Formats: sequence, structure tokens, C-alpha cells
Amino acid sequence: MAGTIAAQQHEAERSPQWPSVRDAFVKNNPQCAVCGKGPAQGIGLQAHHIFPFHYCIRLGRPDLELDPRNLVTLCETESGKPSDDHHVLIGHLDDFESSNLDVVSDAHTRFHGYSAEKIRNDAAWQQKKQQRLPHIEAMRPEDQAAFVWAMNTRYPKAGVPAGKKPASLPDWIPAALR
Ligand SMILES: [Zn+2]
Repeated sequence: MAGTIAAQQHEAERSPQWPSVRDAFVKNNPQCAVCGKGPAQGIGLQAHHIFPFHYCIRLGRPDLELDPRNLVTLCETESGKPSDDHHVLIGHLDDFESSNLDVVSDAHTRFHGYSAEKIRNDAAWQQKKQQRLPHIEAMRPEDQAAFVWAMNTRYPKAGVPAGKKPASLPDWIPAALR
């Protein structure tokens, strides 16, 4: 599936510490943030990066690959274990090469408890999908500047100035940061 291809493309960039960070996070957060399901219901889970880790690495914050503040648990269909695939639908807005920076708010409030079918039929989700984060290789300089500002504002780090808020922000910047 697409997620596997995307994962393979970025696998070379993964920290060797990622598997242990991932496993500890899912153990501590053993339910999908959208549907509340998990191993207890026979559902597979992913530790999803809120700000995608390969963007963070390339745009100056490699620490966010392993920072639990940048993770949220979402369900994903595994072989023989169907789910609502909230990982691709809410985490990635239906494109594993893109991502939903507003995933936590969407999972806990806007789309909480929504089935895959209900999400796909939702006009607000369809609009978010149209306006999702550009693929990293397609980012314009102003997209990169907005991403860097949002990333460093959301996850402040000593010695890393967030900089000035861009005059105009793309639609994919989370509402809480606007
Ligand atoms: Zn789910």
C-alpha cells in the first residue's frame, strides 16, 4: 500500500531510536485518537508524526522525530485486521506523502468517532484534503517558511528562534496557530 512505499522512501532517514520510541508511545497510548479502538478490539495502531518527521529533519528540527509531543496514535488496517484507517484519512488526508498538521484537534473533536465512510462524505474533510500540506519536494519557499514558523512555534526549542509570523499563512497551517 502507499504507506509502505512512503515508509520505504523515508526509511533511510529514520533514527535507529525510532522503533523503541514508537513502541513505548503506542504502549502508553494504546487507542486510536479518532475511534478509541486498538489491540483490545483487534485493531492495528500506528504512532503517527503530527509534523511529518522527514519535513522536520530537512527543515531544521530532527529532534521532532523522537519527541512524543509530535506523536498521536491512529488506527491502520493490517492484514486480516480491517479498521477505519484513521491513519491515512485523518493523519494524512488520504495521501501518505502529505500530512494533516491539525490531526490532534481533528481526531479529538471535529472528526471524533467518525467512520471512514462518514469522513469521506464530509464536506469539511474533502476541503481539507484539497488544501493539504504540499509534498516536500513541491514546497515553495513561502511554504517552507510557514512550515518552519509553525513547527518552531508549536514545539519551541532553546536556541531555535521561531522567527516572525509570515504575513499570509497557507490553509494547511492549524487553526490554533493562525
Ligand atoms: Zn481509528
